[in-house]
Amino acid sequence: MFDTLSDRLTSALQNLRGKGKLTDADIDATAREIRIALLEADVALPVVREFIAQIKQRAKGAEVSGALNPAQQVIKIVNEELVAILGGETRRLNLAKNPPTVIMLAGLQGSGKTTLAGKLALWLKKQGHAPLLVACDLQRPNAVTQLQVVGERAGVPTFAPEPGNGVGDPVDVARRGIEEAKHAQHDVMIVDTAGRLGVDEELMRQAANIRDAVRPDETLFVVDAMIGQDAVNTAEAFRDGVGFSGVVLTKLDGDARGGAALSVRQVTGQPILFASNGEKLEDFDTFHPDRMASRILGMGDLLTLIEQAEQAFDQDQAEKAAAKLGTGQLTLEDFLEQMLAVRKMGPIGNLLGMLPGAGQMKDQLAQVDDKQLDRLQAIIRGMTPAERADPKMINGSRRARIAAGSGVAVREVNDLVNRFFEARKMMQQMAGRFGFGGGSATKS
Ligand code: GDP
Repeated sequence: MFDTLSDRLTSALQNLRGKGKLTDADIDATAREIRIALLEADVALPVVREFIAQIKQRAKGAEVSGALNPAQQVIKIVNEELVAILGGETRRLNLAKNPPTVIMLAGLQGSGKTTLAGKLALWLKKQGHAPLLVACDLQRPNAVTQLQVVGERAGVPTFAPEPGNGVGDPVDVARRGIEEAKHAQHDVMIVDTAGRLGVDEELMRQAANIRDAVRPDETLFVVDAMIGQDAVNTAEAFRDGVGFSGVVLTKLDGDARGGAALSVRQVTGQPILFASNGEKLEDFDTFHPDRMASRILGMGDLLTLIEQAEQAFDQDQAEKAAAKLGTGQLTLEDFLEQMLAVRKMGPIGNLLGMLPGAGQMKDQLAQVDDKQLDRLQAIIRGMTPAERADPKMINGSRRARIAAGSGVAVREVNDLVNRFFEARKMMQQMAGRFGFGGGSATKS
């Protein structure tokens, strides 16, 4: 999503590298480039203005720090300001003291509300909640069926008006939904409402009536991050017409410029709670302003990566591997185990994109595919346990045997072994830098 913005910002900041001292002219030039980058990414003008003013003011007044050089200091300021416009602290979902918690979804048609209802339901279910979906979009043909389908995929029931019972009144369905939630002991209910292609009064009135009937603990405004500048107008219309307590950004996986993500919080004053980045129910997560900012600045998103890893990895195995990482004792056996675990985490390109510096490695990333992983796996499987434990012993004749056994060229075995040694070295350095593992590596 933020590729172009990320590239532009990184290069604007890159120009400062190596400068011992920053003049006001340096700062002005950098601020100008950042301004263009943000405007090109469709960030709303008032947000850009305020952002640039802050950067200039803070960078020019920056105290000399022993730890950071001037360029690093500016990067730090830009990062902090990005975090601030994205909302600062991570805002968690409010759950009601007296269940059921009522979450109402509002937004334009096609913004991704129905899909989000399923994603949210699955996410809540994984955390031990018992959600109920309530179908109050009675306008769009098939909306009820679509909600039932995502509900089934998430393994969550849907409350809907009985078929053949006329068009039905969404406010009435919402009210009966609450009764059903209480009756069947659901602790959260997610109310899907109708959207229109554009903002109109009837739509707002209906959403407001549903709101009054169910008194939501959270009203989430769902906005497609690909709609650019329009996102801001739509958000303002929903804020004034219905009111909302939080924002969900959808379609962050698209290749649009993403200015909506950077504007909507500042313009509406409401926090972004969740981000959706794909059509599958799992493509959804809590929105963390700090992580998003470091992703935009090309500093990777190590925290998300580590959390996803924690979910996919066997805990014992992960701890063992983490301890080995720092001491450089990782074996090919561990490497294979990690690789299998990594495959459970999703497409490899997504994953690698979260690593620091990944922005500059895009071409290489594009070449890594799951088929290649299969080949690597076959090669490692073709080794003896002793070879996996101590890859240094894999000499020329062993390489030839492994290649023949796994049906690949010797060159591929060589590649794998060399890459393994490189990766082991890099991980040891990273472990030192980020302070995990045995930590014999030096700090950089
Ligand atoms: P609604 O009209 O607001 O209920 O929107 P839908 O949930 O029907 O979504 C509209 C379209 O956007 C559907 O084709 C979804 O599959 C798709 N969609 C929803 N969320 C995402 C997302 O995060 N990424 C992508 N790529 N597509 C999405």
